[in-house]
Amino acid sequence: MLKLHNTLTGKTEEFEPLEKGKVRFYSCGPTVYDYFHIGNARPFIVFDGLRRYLEFKGYEVEFTQNVTDLDDKIINRAEEEGIEPNALARKYADAYFEDLNRLGVREADNKSRVTEYIPDIIEHVEALVEKGYGYEVDGDVYFRVKEFDEYGKLSGRSVDDLKSGSRVEVDERKEDPLDFALWKSSDPEEPGWDSPWGRGRPGWHIECSVMAQQTLGETIDIHAGGQDLIFPHHENEIAQSEARTGEQFSRYWVHNGLLRYEGDKMSKSLGNFEYARNVLDDFGKETVRYFYFSTHYRKPLNFSEKNLSDAESAVKKVYEFFNTVDEIETQETGGQTPNTEEGKEFSRFIESAESRFVEEVDKDFNTPGGLGVIFDLVNEGNKFREKSSGGDLFLLKKAKDTIRKLASPLGLFQGGGEDTLRGLEEEFLELLLNVRNELRDDQHWELADRIRSELKEIGVVIKDREEGTRWKIDTDKL
Ligand SMILES: [Zn+2]
Repeated sequence: MLKLHNTLTGKTEEFEPLEKGKVRFYSCGPTVYDYFHIGNARPFIVFDGLRRYLEFKGYEVEFTQNVTDLDDKIINRAEEEGIEPNALARKYADAYFEDLNRLGVREADNKSRVTEYIPDIIEHVEALVEKGYGYEVDGDVYFRVKEFDEYGKLSGRSVDDLKSGSRVEVDERKEDPLDFALWKSSDPEEPGWDSPWGRGRPGWHIECSVMAQQTLGETIDIHAGGQDLIFPHHENEIAQSEARTGEQFSRYWVHNGLLRYEGDKMSKSLGNFEYARNVLDDFGKETVRYFYFSTHYRKPLNFSEKNLSDAESAVKKVYEFFNTVDEIETQETGGQTPNTEEGKEFSRFIESAESRFVEEVDKDFNTPGGLGVIFDLVNEGNKFREKSSGGDLFLLKKAKDTIRKLASPLGLFQGGGEDTLRGLEEEFLELLLNVRNELRDDQHWELADRIRSELKEIGVVIKDREEGTRWKIDTDKL
C-alpha cells in the first residue's frame, strides 16, 4: 500500500483517497513571466511521476494544475519588455507547455488559467466577506487571519511564531500583519475586472483554492507543490478554502525538496540558475528525468554538470542492455521455459522484480529505491548474458520488457535511447562533423551546408559554437 508523507500531520501515512479508486490531485503551476528553470522543473517532473504511479497502481486520477497568467511579476516584466501583460503571459504559457512536452510531462486534465476564473474568484471572496473572514479597505480585500482558528496548522507554527519569525510587511491598512490580500485594486493602466469592491484583480493565493475546488470538488485528495510554498501560500490556501466550506480542503499535502545549484541556493539575481530548456538541449529528456528521480523527492537535490553526466551514464547503461537484448532476439533464443538452473533462478528474479519495485516506491514514492530494482535487473541480466550458454537467452527479453513496464510510471526507458545515442552511430556522426569542419576550413560552404541541412532532415541538429560544433538529436523527428 502506498504511503505518503503528509506535511499536514508531519507523518508518513497510508494513502487512501476519499472516493475508492479515484484520486483528485492538484499541483501548483507556474507564473508565466519567464521560461521556467531547473528548480521549477522539479515539482513538474516529480508530481508527473506520482500521478503516473497512482495510475500504475490502478487509480483513476484527475489532475489539475493552474497557470498564473496574471500577477505583479507579469505586469512588471511586460512593462520592461514594452508589451501588454496578456501578450507576455501568452508567450510564456506557450513556452511552458512546449518545455513540459519536451520533458515528457503529461499535460494536466484541467489546465486552469486564472484569467478564466475571475467570476468564480469574485464569488469566493464575496462569500468570505459575508462570513466575516474578509474585509475591504479602499478597494482591496484582505483575509482576517485571526478569525481562522486553525491558521498555522500546515506549517506547524502558531500565529505568534509566524508573526515574529517571518518577514511580514507592515501595512497600516491591515488589521493584522498576517492578513493577506484576496483582491487587489488595479490602477487604470493595470489589468483589472469590475467587482463589488471596484476595479481590481485577484490576490495570488486565492486562485489555487478556487481552481482546485471548481475542478475537483470541495475536498481533494492530494495537494502538491514545492516546500517553499508551504508558508504562506499553502497555509493561506487552506484558510481561504476551509473558511468558506467548513470542510477539509486537502487530505494529503505533499511537498518536494528544493534544488540547489552547484551547491548554492538557486537565485536568478545571482545568475545562479539554468533554464530547463537549455539543460534539455544539452542532456535530453531521459537524463533530466532520471536526474530528478534518482534522489528522493523530499530531499534537497544538487544540480551540477557532474550529477547530470552521472545521470546520463546511468541512462545509457540501461539502453546498452536493451541493445544487447535486441541483438540476441534475432538469433535462436530457446524456448519459453528455462532449462538450466541459472535460467530458472534468473526467471524467478525477473518475476519478483515488480513486487520489489512496488514495495520500494510505495514507501513515500521512493523512486531511487525503484530505480535500484531496475538496475538490479540490468546487472543480473548482463551477468546472465555472460555466463549463460545460450538456451535460456529469451529470458533477457523478458527482463527488458519488465524494465520497460516498471519504468513507465517514471516516463523512462520507453524509447530507443535516441536522446542518448552512443556507440558506433555517435562515432560516425563525429567523423562526419570533422569532415564538415575541414570542408568549412577550405571554404567549401555549399557542401558543408548540405551536410547540415540533410542531417537536420533526419533529426540531427548541429550548432556551430566558438568551442566547436555540438550536435543533438531532435527527438520530435524520430
Ligand atoms: Zn498554489
